Amino acid sequence: MRILKDAGDLAGKKVLVRDDFNITIDKSGKILDDFRIKASLPTIEYLLENRAKIILMSHLGRPDGKVVEELRLDLVAKRLSELLNRPVKKLPESVGGEVKREINGIQSGEIILLENIQFNPGEKENDSDFAKALASYADIFLMDAFGQSHRSYASIVGINNFLPSYAGLLLQKEVDVLSRALNSPDRPLAVVIGGAKISTKMKLIEEYLKKADNVILGGALANTVLAAKGLAIGASLVEADILPEVKKFDLTNTKLHIPLDVLVSQDREGKNGIKVTSAGNVQAGEIILDVGPETERMFDTIIKESKMVVWNGPMGLFEVEKFSAGTKAMAESIAACPDCFSIVGGGETTCFLEKLGIIDKFDHVSTGGGAMLEFLAGDKLPGIVALE
Ligand code: ADP
Ligand code: MG
Repeated sequence: MRILKDAGDLAGKKVLVRDDFNITIDKSGKILDDFRIKASLPTIEYLLENRAKIILMSHLGRPDGKVVEELRLDLVAKRLSELLNRPVKKLPESVGGEVKREINGIQSGEIILLENIQFNPGEKENDSDFAKALASYADIFLMDAFGQSHRSYASIVGINNFLPSYAGLLLQKEVDVLSRALNSPDRPLAVVIGGAKISTKMKLIEEYLKKADNVILGGALANTVLAAKGLAIGASLVEADILPEVKKFDLTNTKLHIPLDVLVSQDREGKNGIKVTSAGNVQAGEIILDVGPETERMFDTIIKESKMVVWNGPMGLFEVEKFSAGTKAMAESIAACPDCFSIVGGGETTCFLEKLGIIDKFDHVSTGGGAMLEFLAGDKLPGIVALE
């Protein structure tokens, strides 16, 4: 992979950076989670120090090729400007005459942010004219959006055909750390996988049942494993169509750890009360919404003995406070683990950790959800391949 340091002298050069500024904004327009913006700063600061002319681009949300007013990048520009303590000029579009004029006038050390690139249908279609138009604004392309590196979009893989391209510092760090987990992990290695759907994490589970010392499953995806083992799961979320595939796993593998006890309720808000029950004793109509205390202790014991932990996906329906204990306990176990290297990723998971105020305790917080899962499963990511 070609990296930023290989790009040579950047003074006076126009450098176009693909960032992942896909932040969480609530309905009132408040930024809930700006950690992806913060993670992008080292590359931008490097470009400032090296007197480059800086042009940034990103998507936000899913505008599906149309202009969506709430998904403009003005809030991103404002936060970025606050964090850098210097102006960031946001343009009203990502390609076109005005963009060209503004970029013609850019000076070294100035920062321009293009409008949400997914307003243009050419982005997701990997349209080569769109990629070429983006490329025409710069001398060098830097890919720093690790969280999008599994996508074959114009600003991820198309643009490389038209400009010398390098990995930014964030992408480089992600690849370094995750390669370590993939190829030469510290042992014992524990991989903790939670969240909603086992279908999106099958390959990862399969890989790490071979590669890791322990695989811990929690969250709704563990329901499908409980069901595959023949246990009743009441009215819990389950992916019935994946059951046959899950049954092919060696479910007696001693590396595999699934909930021993669970929190159940009759409804997803826990309005009619919640109770702890053993995993084999879930009644018809009951919904599993979190792991139970015995499971928390079992998981904690495994984490404590680990030298490296990789975590993706919550242990329960953590958005409801009553069902957040399992995820909180996991976060605390990993944060307290005396000498293990911890890696965490996933949109929901990292947002929760930030809210808990515990995110600084993790050694590597990946900006990728899907991209991290694919990377760790050993897949080649197109945005990274394009830099090789
Ligand atoms: P991440 O974004 O961190 O990768 P996922 O997207 O895979 O995580 O899954 C997160 C979602 O899984 C959360 O919205 C959470 O509420 C849901 N979830 C986890 N456990 C359960 C459960 N037992 N029942 C219902 N939903 C669950
Ligand atoms: Mg998610």
